[in-house]
Amino acid sequence: MTDNNTRSVSFIGLGNMGTPMTERLLAAGIGVHGFDLSQEAAARLKEAGGYVYPSASEAAAASETIILMLPNSAVVASVLSELREAGALRAGGSVIDMSSSEPLRTIELAEELADLGVLFVDAPVSGGVMGAKSGNLSIMCGGNAESVKDLHWLWAPMGKAYAVGPTGAGHAAKALNNLLSASHFLLTSEAVALTTRLGIDPGTFIDVINHSSGRSGSSEVKWPKFVLTETYNSGFDARLMVKDVAIAVNLAKALGLRSATAEAVADSWSQILDELPPNADHTEVARYVLERATLSTTRATTE
Ligand code: NAD
Repeated sequence: MTDNNTRSVSFIGLGNMGTPMTERLLAAGIGVHGFDLSQEAAARLKEAGGYVYPSASEAAAASETIILMLPNSAVVASVLSELREAGALRAGGSVIDMSSSEPLRTIELAEELADLGVLFVDAPVSGGVMGAKSGNLSIMCGGNAESVKDLHWLWAPMGKAYAVGPTGAGHAAKALNNLLSASHFLLTSEAVALTTRLGIDPGTFIDVINHSSGRSGSSEVKWPKFVLTETYNSGFDARLMVKDVAIAVNLAKALGLRSATAEAVADSWSQILDELPPNADHTEVARYVLERATLSTTRATTE
């Protein structure tokens, strides 16, 4: 069994999630060869003890295990084609897409890489920036179960890995998880707006929900940590949540299992996103819902 001191990964995408994930890997003795388009992000990795490279292909060539933590499938596909053209994808190596990507696109990409003798595992995560910092991510793996098991050394510093099913299953599970999370968050915010109208304190209502059957990750974590404190700084962009909900809705459409509820959630999130400033945190959706409710109360009382 190889010691972690001799292990290394190439890590492309050092943003809100990539930064704490690479810090966990470094702390576990795993070398990190990283690249990000943002020099600020790359500088953070260097400061934490990783190696930074001037291009994705140079970072990828430095290790046999390439991790991607990028905004979406389009960026993943474009980085992979850059690596392929530069000869940085070598037979026997692995590519692990930890981004929240589109499952059907993932299946296509995995087939393309299989032709080169490169293993592809989809391994998106849940747990946010807090989970990434503490090594408590839930890692949803799609691909060969034996290969997922062999990568134990990689998952352990970041969280707990679940072998969900074949290629694309991890990305499907993640999109559906976020469809649920987006639905809970929006509805919890709407419920709080309604109870506020009745003079119920939001903190009291959230506490009651958390001891009742309406609770969720939104009421137990997001509302108390980022909304009631009015910090709105979870580190997960509203745009990324809208992308994830759209992935779930499009997957359902592609499989002929349309859901009116999911489509309504997607529409509501997209409409709210249009009203938010660029790069707004996804928890700002609660502030928007509450402000709208206050505005409509003012309108109702002045009409
Ligand atoms: P982010 O925007 O903070 O980071 C993405 C990074 O990718 C940025 O630093 C950006 O510069 C870099 N990048 C973009 N294009 C690139 C390219 N061509 N080459 C190299 N680097 C490139 O996003 P994030 O919050 O870290 O999310 C990353 C992924 O993880 C997304 O797919 C997101 O949906 C998912 N995710 C995020 C969270 C969260 O809480 N933030 C939680 C779970 C999953």
